[in-house]
Amino acid sequence: MAFHGTGRQQTVCGNLFPGSELGHKYFCVNTSTGATSTGLSATPSLTGPTAPAGTPRHPTSLGGSTGGGAAVPQPHSSPASEVPSPAEMEPDRPIGYGAFGVVWSVTDPRDGRKVALKKMPNVFQNLVSCKRVFRELRMLCFFKHDNVLSALDILQPPQMDCFEEIYVITELMQSDLHKVIVSPQPLTTDHIKVFLYQILRGLKYLHSAGILHRDIKPGNLLVNSNCLLKICDFGLARVEEPDPSRHMTQEVVTQYYRAPEVLMGSRHYGSAIDVWSVGCIFAELLGRRILFQAQSPIQQLDLITDLLGTPPLSAMASACEGARAHILRGPHKPPSLSVLYMLSDGATHEAVHLLCRMLVFDPAKRISGSDALSHPYLDEGRLRYHTCMCQCCYSVPSGRVYTRDFEPPADRNFSHSYDNSLLSVWQGKELIHRFITEHQQGKRVPLCINPQSAAFKTFIRSTAWHSSKVSRKEER
Ligand SMILES: [Zn+2]
Repeated sequence: MAFHGTGRQQTVCGNLFPGSELGHKYFCVNTSTGATSTGLSATPSLTGPTAPAGTPRHPTSLGGSTGGGAAVPQPHSSPASEVPSPAEMEPDRPIGYGAFGVVWSVTDPRDGRKVALKKMPNVFQNLVSCKRVFRELRMLCFFKHDNVLSALDILQPPQMDCFEEIYVITELMQSDLHKVIVSPQPLTTDHIKVFLYQILRGLKYLHSAGILHRDIKPGNLLVNSNCLLKICDFGLARVEEPDPSRHMTQEVVTQYYRAPEVLMGSRHYGSAIDVWSVGCIFAELLGRRILFQAQSPIQQLDLITDLLGTPPLSAMASACEGARAHILRGPHKPPSLSVLYMLSDGATHEAVHLLCRMLVFDPAKRISGSDALSHPYLDEGRLRYHTCMCQCCYSVPSGRVYTRDFEPPADRNFSHSYDNSLLSVWQGKELIHRFITEHQQGKRVPLCINPQSAAFKTFIRSTAWHSSKVSRKEER
């Protein structure tokens, strides 16, 4: 991405995005369609060195000005390995559309590093969207785990009067598991084990913080070329509800990955819904096709019972009357789990055993994310991850020094006490503005969008187009 220094453009852009006393750096956007790649090389470097993600970065020195949107990074003090050469610099381009935002690949002008820029649209439309975005923003800043995507930075907000959109910077991942699964690239048992290990490792962290993701699907599992995986898109995530009398929305989880209790209209559910989704993804990794690909929620339920058999009444305790009647009206189905062995050669006894512990109809009997990590199927994935991919262990001349806890939980629960105290959009706007400003204090040189850049219009168009297409029911 090309960028401006703090030259003439500051005056122009400063009207929209007043800078701090330190000055600020602009993002501006080059146009390009860019070739789409799965990002997973034909011979993934499962044994290769760890990417330099997470290495310390330094703010760029201030005062220099390129004055006119140079397309190469400025010299700076970051380690050379982090700085792409001009030939390696890809232009900015859209890379994905999450539940509630558009994601672009851009270059951070402070260190030349490729990062992902997400615009959170329609933030202040109403109180519900305001709460939802604030929750997601706070989660992204809360997360500290290698298998969960977190915010590297938030762009400097303009003054309150002009504050309409929020831009978040996260680490850039080259692909996602959906693209990998549908690509012709080989997907070995080693890949599957190390992917599944990382999904469950990230999920254990989320659940230990009291967070339900509620939209685990291959497209929300980002991967890069050395097979590191991060769970992303927390637009539907929320804090676990301990009170079973409190109703929760049914408008969650992409249908193919939706747990039976949600399909059956249960008004209260827990972290087991995410484990079900992981089970579906595990089967999809093995068979390279969607496990339960139905046209409607009822057919989705029918496909599940075709495999698992008719559930006992006790497994439908929380189901709504209509859903229970639908199951009982139909013929009694025996389980046909042996078909799971036919998913692929990788569907070994161990693999199918773990799969059958995740795909349990009754959420109370389904394995937890944490317990799934103890399954022997994941031993090799754990070893591989901590031998050459993780950030928590390191090598010394005499060998590898392993971390004490391979799958650490969150050090505290995610707090959502602010949620109920939000009473108006304006109050929410003030809170979010203060949150971003406080989050930035004392950190790096603030960044902001350069609306004068040629392709900023393209960026805005793509986000506007997407916003108009997004019509998902939101939770109260
Ligand atoms: Zn480690």
